[in-house]
Amino acid sequence: MAEDRIKPFTLDFDLVSGLCKSGRAKLTHRFVSNMAAQFNDSAAAEEIVRNGDKPIYDFYELDQIPETAGDLKFGTSIVYAGKVGDEYFMTQGHFHTILETGEVYYCLAGQGAMLMETPEGEVHLAEMKAGEAVYVPPRWAHRSINTGNETMVTFFVFRSDAGHDYGTIKQKGYRKLVVERDGKPVMIDNPKWAE
Ligand code: ZN
Repeated sequence: MAEDRIKPFTLDFDLVSGLCKSGRAKLTHRFVSNMAAQFNDSAAAEEIVRNGDKPIYDFYELDQIPETAGDLKFGTSIVYAGKVGDEYFMTQGHFHTILETGEVYYCLAGQGAMLMETPEGEVHLAEMKAGEAVYVPPRWAHRSINTGNETMVTFFVFRSDAGHDYGTIKQKGYRKLVVERDGKPVMIDNPKWAE
């Protein structure tokens, strides 16, 4: 059905801020209040919310792209610098609903890490810095973490029908956390992780 297919189009993303200034992509905001339960130190999260809340990350969605196996979705993710307790600001993280689909994240600005894990429990922490791309293979849940002092901006591309399974991570958490110890990011076991 060729008439249902999307036509070629061009979209702007600022190389430093990650912003789509034309406004043609839909921007979604996530605050501490949206994911307080996902941080290890929930008391610290509640304290931030009581004091007026803080933005953790923004990301773009392209609803106009059909969710077929042949289409690709893309956009930028903008993670702000900060911590909840000693845990760095991070995205919710997700598996793809179609588990056997991968994703590419190219870091445009800032620095941090991509925390990945498989359903079987394999864990990988990939450093992210401007100018480097991280490949998230099929089956790996992925979460961006800003471990620096500046905003971390990444550009991502994935198969359009992959879907986002946020529920599994929300329910069980990640096996590992990335926290600050002596001024440096360190990966530790998540005490709240549920098998
Ligand atoms: Zn993904």
